[in-house]
Amino acid sequence: MVLRASYWTWKLLNGESIPDEMPTAYLMLDGECMYNCAYCTHARDSESDNSYLSRVVWKLIELKDLNSISLKFKRVCIQTVNYKGYFEDILNVVERLRVLDTNNKLLISVSTRMKNEKEIDILMNSGVNDLGIAIDVVSENLHRLYRSWPLEYTLSLIRYGAEKYPGRITTHVIVGLGETDRELYEIFKLMKTYNVKVALFAFTPVRGTRLAHLTPPSLERYRKIQILRFLMFETNESPEVDFDEYGNLKILKYDSSIDISKAFLTSGCTHCTRPYYNDSPRNKVLYNYHTTMETQKK
Ligand code: SF4
Repeated sequence: MVLRASYWTWKLLNGESIPDEMPTAYLMLDGECMYNCAYCTHARDSESDNSYLSRVVWKLIELKDLNSISLKFKRVCIQTVNYKGYFEDILNVVERLRVLDTNNKLLISVSTRMKNEKEIDILMNSGVNDLGIAIDVVSENLHRLYRSWPLEYTLSLIRYGAEKYPGRITTHVIVGLGETDRELYEIFKLMKTYNVKVALFAFTPVRGTRLAHLTPPSLERYRKIQILRFLMFETNESPEVDFDEYGNLKILKYDSSIDISKAFLTSGCTHCTRPYYNDSPRNKVLYNYHTTMETQKK
C-alpha cells in the first residue's frame, strides 16, 4: 500500500501548524492507475510527478502515522487511484480509521472511480459515510473522450448510490474542460433531484497530462457557475437562467438580498475545504476559497 497525505494534512499529523483551519484530512492511496483520464496527473499515460494530484504535493506516510487523526480532524477523505488492489487497500484504511476513532465521530469520505454497483454497496457498508463518484466531465462527448466510458454509465452509478444511500453521495464537477454552461446547469439539476452534493473545481492544466495545453476557465465564468451551484444547492431559490445559442449562461437572476459570499468557498462534503487544490498559493484571488476569511480578503 502506498499511502500519502496532502502537505497540510501531513504537517498537522506531525504536530506542526498550518496557516488556516483545515477540518478535513486528505489521504491518497497511490499507484499506477488503470484508467487514462486526460486531465489527471495519475492517468496511465501521464508523465506527471506522482507526488502531485492536481496542484497539491502529497507526502508518503504509513498507517501508524494516522494514530492521532480523529483528534485533529472532523473528516478524512481518502482519494484513491485505481491501481491493482486499490479496493482492498481502501477497506483496510477505513477499518483502521474506524478502530482509531473510538468516539465514533470521524466522518469518512472515499473518492475513487467506482467500477460497478457491487463496489458501491461494499464501500457504503464498510464504515464510509460519504462516497465521491466523480462526473468531472459533464459534456457527453468529452466524458467519453477524456474518461473513456459513457457519461450515462457514470450517471447510472450515481443514481444507484443516491437511491440506495440517500444524502451520502457527492460528485465532483470540473469547469473548463470544453463543456457549455448549459451542460453544467443540466447536470446540477439532475444532481439536485438525486440529492447529490456537487463539489466544483476549476480545470487545472498540469504538465505531463494530455490536457496540459488547455487554459483554465476565466474567473468571471467560474464565479457565475459557483453562484449558480450555490443558489441551486444551498438556498431555496430557483434562479432564473437563460443561455445563448452556444450554451453560455447569459441571464442569471436571483433575489439580490441573498448573501452569495459563501458561493466562492470549496463545495462538496461537509467540512471539505481542499486548500489550493486548483489554485496557486501565490494568487490573491482564488477559484475556490477554503475559509471565509479568505473570501473577505477578496
Ligand atoms: S467533496 Fe471533499 S471530502 Fe467529499 S469526496 Fe470530494 S474531496 Fe473528498
